[in-house]
Amino acid sequence: MTYIGRFAPSPTGPLHFGSLLAALASFLDARANNGKWLLRIENLDPPREQAGIKETFPNILEAHGLYWDDELCLQSDRHQHYQNVLDALLLQKHAYRCNCSRKEIISRCGNTVYDQHCLLSPPNTDAQCAIRINSKDAQISFTDLIQGQQNDRLNDYGDFVVYRRDNLYAYLLAVVVDDYLQGITHVVRGSDLLSETARQIHLQHILKHPTPTYAHIPVATNNEGQKLSKQTFAPALDIENPVSTLFQALKFLDQRPPQELLSASKEEVISWGINNWKISSIKKTMAKPLQVRT
Ligand code: GLU
Ligand code: ZN
Repeated sequence: MTYIGRFAPSPTGPLHFGSLLAALASFLDARANNGKWLLRIENLDPPREQAGIKETFPNILEAHGLYWDDELCLQSDRHQHYQNVLDALLLQKHAYRCNCSRKEIISRCGNTVYDQHCLLSPPNTDAQCAIRINSKDAQISFTDLIQGQQNDRLNDYGDFVVYRRDNLYAYLLAVVVDDYLQGITHVVRGSDLLSETARQIHLQHILKHPTPTYAHIPVATNNEGQKLSKQTFAPALDIENPVSTLFQALKFLDQRPPQELLSASKEEVISWGINNWKISSIKKTMAKPLQVRT
């Protein structure tokens, strides 16, 4: 079996414990399956990027014993690939231009679920436009390895944007193009992205790409139930203390690491993780608090 997995952080803030969970789970699943594990930095949104932060990612991963294969991939180097796919989508009429503002959509539709206004009355050619995928009546079903059977009707989301009106390639386009071009067979990531998956699969169907296997791990929350993130001030990872962080992450992922691992080296923790990895042990839940043990 060939297995290619990946970790795909966005450089909008420092890597934190939630990022490490996605990195570690995707890494261990790849290594336990004798697979490759790639690192892709999703830096498509310069206004939201934190200067100097992506340069810290390789070091932090290595400090936790997580070594990737092949060249690090930067989405900012790959615009031509995204453009080629956009051109094809427009040509084949799977995609269409839209110059509605968010405000206009809300005032017309009552919410942000798009009503295909610009599919029916296309904007004039020099208008500043987003590009949307026609996904009317698409129904997507897939089985997530952790979260189980999923059935999504894309009408509930409205036609999604693959190119933004502020001239940026959208995450949903780039992730699908790159997962395909990098030959990704398995996507292991946080459950905050589960709701994005059906749209990715819809795009894969249109583009005749194979669909990878998906596994969405629970996201860690603070005691107030908020997802650890830059917005909730999750602390940056401490590279001086990788063993206790890895141990805590293995516990969070329901892998039951033995207490002795706390006095092992990070290499030993990682190899224990690979040898004992059971994705099926991860309990089916979208989120759970990270209890900090003192
Ligand atoms: N770059 C995305 C994020 O950091 C993750 C993309 C993915 O794993 O599909 O949220
Ligand atoms: Zn429109």
